[in-house]
Amino acid sequence: MAPDEKPVEPPKRIEDFRYDAWDSWNSFAPGASVEFEMEAGGSKMRQVKTLDSKRPDAITVKSVMILKIGDDENRTESDETFLKSRGGPAQCPSCKKPVSSHDPGTFSRERLKIGDRDLDCVVWKSPARDCSGKATTPVRMWYCKDVPGGNVKTESEHWKMTATRFDPKK
Ligand SMILES: [Zn+2]
Repeated sequence: MAPDEKPVEPPKRIEDFRYDAWDSWNSFAPGASVEFEMEAGGSKMRQVKTLDSKRPDAITVKSVMILKIGDDENRTESDETFLKSRGGPAQCPSCKKPVSSHDPGTFSRERLKIGDRDLDCVVWKSPARDCSGKATTPVRMWYCKDVPGGNVKTESEHWKMTATRFDPKK
């Protein structure tokens, strides 16, 4: 155990909250979408994510980033593929230890208005240090299962990303 590593505390979870990208898209049909406004360093961008295809073990989501420059729109398209979890304990990508041995951060609840909907969200605040003991910039993320992709807002010191509308297309 590294000197900075604290003994394991039970996670302060709300209703066994656990985010999984595949799960958070799987309850929606192709065409379901969510639109974000992103703000960083004084500039604003839009991002639209749309569920493109569903296979039994993989979901593909198309993303379009839209940056307005004067009257022009600069569009960047990309694909993301999420694989179904094979179960078993999740592994930390940086230290390869089970994620359950890590500081889970803190959870709370908040209501957010997205488009014309009031949503009950779970808010996760990242731990102050990563698993190597290094201090991190705090990140807060808002989650709601009613929104495709499950993530409705992310906020850090110098940037934020907020869902402005969504289409669940169930
Ligand atoms: Zn780790």
